[in-house]
Amino acid sequence: MARIGFIGLGNMGGGMAANLAKAGHDVRAFDLSAEALERAKAAGCLPVDSAAAAAEGAEAIVTMLPAGKHVEQVYEDAIFGNAAPGTLLLDCSTIDVDTAKRVAAAAAAKGLVAVDAPVSGGIAAANGGTLTFMVGGSAEAFGRAEPILAKMGKAVIHAGANGAGQAAKIVNNMILGAQMVSTCEAFLLAQKLGLDPQTFYDISSKASGQSWSMTSYCPVPGVGPQSPADNDYQGGFAAALMLKDLRLAMEAAESAGAQVPMGKRARELYEAFTEAGQGGLDFSGIIKMLDEKAG
Ligand code: NAD
Repeated sequence: MARIGFIGLGNMGGGMAANLAKAGHDVRAFDLSAEALERAKAAGCLPVDSAAAAAEGAEAIVTMLPAGKHVEQVYEDAIFGNAAPGTLLLDCSTIDVDTAKRVAAAAAAKGLVAVDAPVSGGIAAANGGTLTFMVGGSAEAFGRAEPILAKMGKAVIHAGANGAGQAAKIVNNMILGAQMVSTCEAFLLAQKLGLDPQTFYDISSKASGQSWSMTSYCPVPGVGPQSPADNDYQGGFAAALMLKDLRLAMEAAESAGAQVPMGKRARELYEAFTEAGQGGLDFSGIIKMLDEKAG
């Protein structure tokens, strides 16, 4: 089993680090939050007092941080001067494609091997070890990353070169954002047209309108399997995080010169929802805003 540095023990990273420790790895864990460090200790990790200490002597270093600027800062300030040559860096945060490519190139220049390995699945999947990882990096780096990531997830997929994992993640979430909005408006319209929500679900879930947003995460309470809608849109995947991912997708589309009109509209709607103070609600809660707007 390996010595693994783990930096960023928040909602997602806490459970992920715990699963690595449970699998028998020697996990040296760091977070700016003392509370997060306490939780990591209780879960079998060894808390250390700096990101540099997590990096020293590690065979692999996992980061699970809020955004690209945090990853770049931790890499520059703590990892590059302290990680041994050949150390594998796995950044599981969701960050912009350009930063992912830039930090991987900077790591390579220091003799380190980096992959971007963002995840699909929320806090429950992080705790349960059932995340899906999409990995950007060389075939050799993927070969080294796969057994580590497999202890935290149910699927580990090689997306392509550095940056490809982040590209897959934000494009996937662009589909999800647009699909959730269209699923919400469909249920609202169906209801206004006199259709019972359960009846509409029974029909559309077996017809061509079916989608993950409908059959795995239905935004209408009491319809479909258990989802945040059944808990007044608490928990789940915060609308503010969906907005973050949609913004990253719009930046990537602009830099690639791609037309993404539905993605753009979804970003505008999640922006309005978040600006109305609802960013902490699950992203399916946008149905409330669409309902209010309809009057
Ligand atoms: P979070 O805010 O709960 O956790 C981030 C942690 O990083 C915090 O504990 C914070 O103290 C720590 N941190 C920040 N700067 C640091 C530094 N310099 N050194 C050490 N620790 C530092 O966020 P999260 O929900 O765990 O999300 C982490 C990443 O995963 C984000 O990029 C997010 O977009 C992505 N993600 C989240 C979800 C989700 O459902 N929450 C799902 C998929 C992907």
